[in-house]
Amino acid sequence: MREVESRTEPRRVVVVGAGIAGLAAAHRLLERGARVTVLEASDRVGGKLLPGEIAGARVDLGAESMLARRPEAVALAREVGLADALQPPATATASIWTRGALRPMPKGHVMGVPGTAAALAGVLSEEGLARIARDAELPPTEVGEDVAVGAYVAARVGREVVDRLVEPLLGGVYAGDAYRISLRSAVPQLYRAALAHTSLTEAVRAIQARTAAAPGTGPVFMGLRGGVGGLPTAVAASVRARGAEILTGTPVTALRRTTAADADRGTWRVVAGDRVLDADAVVVAVPAPAAAALLRPEAPAAAAELAAVEYASMALVTLAYRRSAAALPEGSGFLVPPVDGRTIKASTFASRKWAWIDEENPDLLILRTSVGRHGETEILDRDDAGLVDVSRHDLREATGLDAVPVATRVTRWTDGLPQYPVGHHARVARVRAHVAALPGLAVCGALYDGVGIPACVASAHAAVDEIAGVPRLTADPVPSAPGAAGE
Ligand SMILES: Cc1cc2nc3c(=O)[nH]c(=O)nc-3n(C[C@H](O)[C@H](O)[C@H](O)COP(=O)(O)OP(=O)(O)OC[C@H]3O[C@@H](n4cnc5c(N)ncnc54)[C@H](O)[C@@H]3O)c2cc1C
Repeated sequence: MREVESRTEPRRVVVVGAGIAGLAAAHRLLERGARVTVLEASDRVGGKLLPGEIAGARVDLGAESMLARRPEAVALAREVGLADALQPPATATASIWTRGALRPMPKGHVMGVPGTAAALAGVLSEEGLARIARDAELPPTEVGEDVAVGAYVAARVGREVVDRLVEPLLGGVYAGDAYRISLRSAVPQLYRAALAHTSLTEAVRAIQARTAAAPGTGPVFMGLRGGVGGLPTAVAASVRARGAEILTGTPVTALRRTTAADADRGTWRVVAGDRVLDADAVVVAVPAPAAAALLRPEAPAAAAELAAVEYASMALVTLAYRRSAAALPEGSGFLVPPVDGRTIKASTFASRKWAWIDEENPDLLILRTSVGRHGETEILDRDDAGLVDVSRHDLREATGLDAVPVATRVTRWTDGLPQYPVGHHARVARVRAHVAALPGLAVCGALYDGVGIPACVASAHAAVDEIAGVPRLTADPVPSAPGAAGE
């Protein structure tokens, strides 16, 4: 088996993009004996993983947490020497700011969908709770090839469940709209359950029973001491130590197949300004607009599909307070359903959620809010001071926090999160089919199999298999769980 694999492994591989997907691909390619060059447009590695600082404290200014119920991200962290830095959240208690109060986030739900009406007591109105019970009597709801999460869940258990629970939870991952997001791509376990059960609450109870029976499940999420932003830095150091070259400030401008006359120099020619690299294979690990531009000459049909992928923009507002002057309620933070008409989408109490932040900064209270979601861009037209103002206003309303921060920091993530609307899985399958027709080319990253860090790593591993000619496990992959994003 090993011999067969080594015969098909490409020797020289260029990876385009040094986000976590591109770096994970480089890491896996080196294990397979390839010579690897990573080309990154910006002046740093990491993409949406960004370590930063506020009032002298280390914090994440992008992604801050990794789903640990699937193995890929945590395994990668261990492989690059970060085993000792892995740290679960210090508290699993969160709230939801709805109907005028911070209310404990219910337990016993799958992406906001409860197994019983009682699980949502305290968050939903009496009518909302009563509507959940009707699920057991309703005729089957058509899901077909795919359906919007919001439409399906509302049809089974009522709009209130969608508007007060599903929407903010999904919004935390995709910064999108539950009534557009694909059940099949974004909550695949519910899609599969919907095919097998008429009653959605019964389906959720079946998922919960399977989870409870699964042996040795550890924490659902993991962070890293120093910040999840340290993961790409460590992966980059590891791949460099094993001989890979990573060139930052090097945007790739063209990707062409070489002609027969150049065949001995490789199958692909990668152009980055005046630098030209020949390679046996290329892994394209960049967001959809950049991937579309690069693939257009050789894979125009794939490029057309990629050009149609939409993105959501958002901003994170990080605030640091003198601890002696500020008080916060218990828990790791809160989500805000859009139906409640507030401006912020969520707030993470970073000092509470991550023990390392608390330990490193005993005099500070650090938190962050997120604003902006797909289709709601006006809020992001405000300047940084305006975003700080709305954050402070909503924090005061939600928690009573009235202190003046000692430092604030706004991080804008324009087109930060790809949207997974109904039919996304079919679009991804079409892109992959077009790309597979070109030997030595593969794609990976947040727009394919899930936006969360483990899903991005998994897509990178699949891309490495792809260029080695290892068949995909399924023709139409459905991710096993959504990754966590946003807040
Ligand atoms: C604000 C925010 C918070 C999030 N929070 C979480 C979280 O807590 N947990 C979680 O699991 N996920 C989270 N996510 C999602 C997750 O971080 C991203 O989906 C993931 O990091 C994307 O990785 P990627 O490698 O696919 O793409 P990116 O990180 O976008 O990397 C792509 C890289 O390609 C480069 N590039 C683009 N064009 C070119 C070119 N022509 N040539 C060379 N290089 C190019 C870019 O500069 C970039 O560095 C969050 C996302 C955002 C925006």
